[in-house]
Amino acid sequence: MLGRHGPRLGHVSDNETRDDTSDTASDNTLGLDPLLLEILACPCPAHAPLRVDIDRQLLVCTECGRGFPVREGIPVMLLDEAV
Ligand SMILES: [Zn+2]
Repeated sequence: MLGRHGPRLGHVSDNETRDDTSDTASDNTLGLDPLLLEILACPCPAHAPLRVDIDRQLLVCTECGRGFPVREGIPVMLLDEAV
């Protein structure tokens, strides 16, 4: 019989004791996985990390300032689509 939780990825840490703020957290990432945000990089030559612009619903490059839309939970990392 398999356990209900299965193997856990990463480490189990203080996050276990975190209050239930998951709704707020997902709002802060436009519904994207925070781990995905960490590995995403702008397609510009700097390949800079992106930050979330909640007001504009965009992922904004920290180097070139381009903003990339998120469509149905998928970041559109195309320079043609950048604003
Ligand atoms: Zn950039």
